[in-house]
Amino acid sequence: MARDFRVRFAPSPTGALHIGGIRTALYNYLLAKQKGGKFILRIEDTDQGRYVEGAEDYIVEALEWCGLELDESPKLGGAFGPYRQSERKDIYKKYVDQLIASGKAYYAFDSSESLAAKRAAYEAEKKTFKYDASVRAEMDNSLLISADALQARLNSGEAYTVRLKVPIDETVTVEDDVRGKVSFDSNELDDKILLKADGMPTYHLANVVDDYLMQISHVIRGEEWLPSTAHHILLYQAFGWADSIPHFAHLPLILKPNGKGKLSKRDGAKFGFPVFPLSWEGKSAEDSFEGFREYGFLPEALVNFLAFLGWNPGTEQEIFSLEELVAAFDVEKIGKSGARFDIEKGTWFNQQYLINSSNAILAKQIRPWVEAKGYEVSNDYLEGVCELMKERVSLLKDFPETGYYLFEAVKEYEGKPVRKNWKPEFRAAFDELLSVIENISDFSVSSLEETIKAFIAERELRIGTVFQILRVGVSGTLKGPSVFDMIALLGKEETLERMKKAYVQFDKIKAQ
Ligand code: GLU
Repeated sequence: MARDFRVRFAPSPTGALHIGGIRTALYNYLLAKQKGGKFILRIEDTDQGRYVEGAEDYIVEALEWCGLELDESPKLGGAFGPYRQSERKDIYKKYVDQLIASGKAYYAFDSSESLAAKRAAYEAEKKTFKYDASVRAEMDNSLLISADALQARLNSGEAYTVRLKVPIDETVTVEDDVRGKVSFDSNELDDKILLKADGMPTYHLANVVDDYLMQISHVIRGEEWLPSTAHHILLYQAFGWADSIPHFAHLPLILKPNGKGKLSKRDGAKFGFPVFPLSWEGKSAEDSFEGFREYGFLPEALVNFLAFLGWNPGTEQEIFSLEELVAAFDVEKIGKSGARFDIEKGTWFNQQYLINSSNAILAKQIRPWVEAKGYEVSNDYLEGVCELMKERVSLLKDFPETGYYLFEAVKEYEGKPVRKNWKPEFRAAFDELLSVIENISDFSVSSLEETIKAFIAERELRIGTVFQILRVGVSGTLKGPSVFDMIALLGKEETLERMKKAYVQFDKIKAQ
């Protein structure tokens, strides 16, 4: 019988979630939605030493912001809960006991000191110590003692771990949907700890037991987990669950913008761009990061950008809404080689989304940025700003930054166009132009353009000179939107005021 599509995103709450994690979540989501399956959040918090307060909330908020809606999670619940591994401790104990009873796992009493001594002895001989079939017999474990002796040690409360008894001389094959068949020699695999001395399961045990119990059909995760998959397959076999092994797809690394190695959380600060979806306030400045949201990205753009970091549809189309990604996604088209992180490409995606957004929606998005700068403007005005600026900026924060002159008086005038075009003796003609502008009753872009052009023709002025003076006069720069668009948006009074002030400044620039 075909299994339902059930996929999980299984982060450990050890701090802010890097965008690599969001990409993993996204690919899982896309597969689930395409197949009418379920997208599940499971919090893997068995490593209490690495647990970070607030990390789970951060993960949930980041997924929500990206629009990756969950079907089952710690907060939503579901038929396969609990969805936090720390709340499933008793479940794992039962499965560990089952493995011990069937001889697939064993108790190990080796103390951390004795293990450290062993490691040091191996290192002295330039060898690496691995707790595996070749050394089992030299170690302090239940494989070597009688049942009574074992019971006595357990009764005495002595600390122990439980290890997987990896079979010898076997080939373990992972059928990976991205990489094809990947084989491991079991003699190379160590007897992984399944249950730690604190009674908590390790990642390997909890991950496999939960994937089985939660009926996970597809495991999509980062490439760094591929070696662990050999142990996971052995665990499925040891439990007698070989028929329930999920499909695996290991995603390529996200690489640094240049040079070798994978993109790390420190690269954000190093290169001056975010590598986290949302900002994170850690305990120190070192552990605090800016997010794509706070940097000025639209979530749709981040999602589109991340979708292409490791996957592409094999066509020219680059702009995909989430629904379009759901329809187009194909695990077979995930690349094997690392995907280079290119912030310029990401910014390009964001710009495309800004250009394609309606002014009404965009105005809502930029309002918080505008208000944070202390500007108070109406919605209509903000929509006008969006219309004028959206093709000229690439981040939400650019609207009130690059386009500050649409919200407050010009702070600085570009010198070059002023020196080139302005002469104090033009003042009379420009004063006349201002009274023409003052008398325009229909203050629309087309009527402004018509009237101003007619004035220029009548006075036989140079069109380029007048336009540049007006542009720099109202905005301080030649890089802004069209001069008639700006004048229409700013309004009559503001335009006149700005021009009068500008003439004084222009005279000063000229005199320098
Ligand atoms: N808890 C692991 C992580 O933090 C999950 C890996 C997996 O998906 O199996 O990424």
